[in-house]
Amino acid sequence: MYPLLLVRYGELSLKGRNRKVFEDLLLANIKASIAGLPHGGIRKTYGRIYLEAQDNWEELAERLGRVFGIVSISPVLRRELDLEEIQDGAALVAQDTPGNTFKVEVRRADKTFPLNSPELARLVGGHLLRIFPHLKVDVHQPDFTVNIEVRREGAFIYSKVIPCLGGLPAGSAGKGLLLLSGGIDSPVAGFLTMKRGVNVEGVHFHSYPFTSEQSKEKVLQLGRLLAPYNAKGRFRLWLVYFTEIQKALHKGSYPSLSITLMRRFMLRIASELAKREGALALITGDSLGQVASQTMESIHTINAVTSMPVFRPLIGLDKQEIVELAVKIGTFETSILPYEDCCTVFVPKNPATRPTIEQVVRAEAELNVEDLIAEALARTELVELTPGKHF
Ligand code: ATP
Ligand code: MG
Repeated sequence: MYPLLLVRYGELSLKGRNRKVFEDLLLANIKASIAGLPHGGIRKTYGRIYLEAQDNWEELAERLGRVFGIVSISPVLRRELDLEEIQDGAALVAQDTPGNTFKVEVRRADKTFPLNSPELARLVGGHLLRIFPHLKVDVHQPDFTVNIEVRREGAFIYSKVIPCLGGLPAGSAGKGLLLLSGGIDSPVAGFLTMKRGVNVEGVHFHSYPFTSEQSKEKVLQLGRLLAPYNAKGRFRLWLVYFTEIQKALHKGSYPSLSITLMRRFMLRIASELAKREGALALITGDSLGQVASQTMESIHTINAVTSMPVFRPLIGLDKQEIVELAVKIGTFETSILPYEDCCTVFVPKNPATRPTIEQVVRAEAELNVEDLIAEALARTELVELTPGKHF
């Protein structure tokens, strides 16, 4: 029933001179999000965006619900600039909105309309009270508000305000590289970083044939699920051949340090890829104290291999909070599929919880670190993921 979607964006307006860049990015991300769906065009006016729907506003709104930068959406009814038309439209909107108390709010951009805002509000409110006996007016805390905007092009009427993700348009803050495992945490870390405007690319370390095709497919699927939140609805994922490194670590004489050493290799390789790609930060799904490799000592010792900023947006979250976010963004079901990860295949019995830099430097002296990294990088492939048919 609603032919139009009104899209509100928030923080963008704070960005002064960069505003146009932000708005253009938001528009590009919106267009990418609705690609393939029928619609009648997008317009930007007075700090808002209007999207013409075609009997499919709910489907369009669902897509927009994954675009960072959008604060809320309202499905809007459009009527001629005529009192009866507006009253009829307001009745349809009120009928479609749950609640027993309401108020009418009028904004009159077109001052040539003969009724002023309070008059129009009163006449529409009176009409609603006449035809819906269960309704009462409450101007302070109404269950819903019937909004009417009077513009030259017509009257726009709505009550629903669908809250969206907020944040900044993905891509407005530059590029970051996410270490994406097949687990619950790292996709959420990627999502939260995209939320602040970062165009996130991913790097996944696999140990094929010790890890299966299914385990790779699972990570690709996580990338597809993240794509709609990312800049232009795309997610680029680097798949790094990590098997030789895993084997070398497995053979080494420091089994309790193998996870720490493995993470150091991951960070070194990711830093190298980030430099090549122009990414300015790495992102991981670490949450402090969650497992042996995420104690303060472990993070300190692992982090020492890179001078790049490493973002850990989950650092202060409990597992349950991370799970709730994973469910909300739609990655949880895929993350809990039982396929093995490179770390689960090679995990030591007693991983060190307090590895020191001296210890790992001694252990790494046994290995040909540079060659192992060069080989892994040489066998890295890139896949470009888009949301696919399920959206
Ligand atoms: P997740 O649920 O993200 O797998 P986790 O609780 O299993 O996290 P760890 O396995 O200790 O935690 O990994 C910590 C972080 O290291 C992950 O969040 C991810 O950023 C990175 N990481 C771990 N394994 C891989 C991998 N195979 N490829 C890429 N990054 C990885
Ligand atoms: Mg993991």
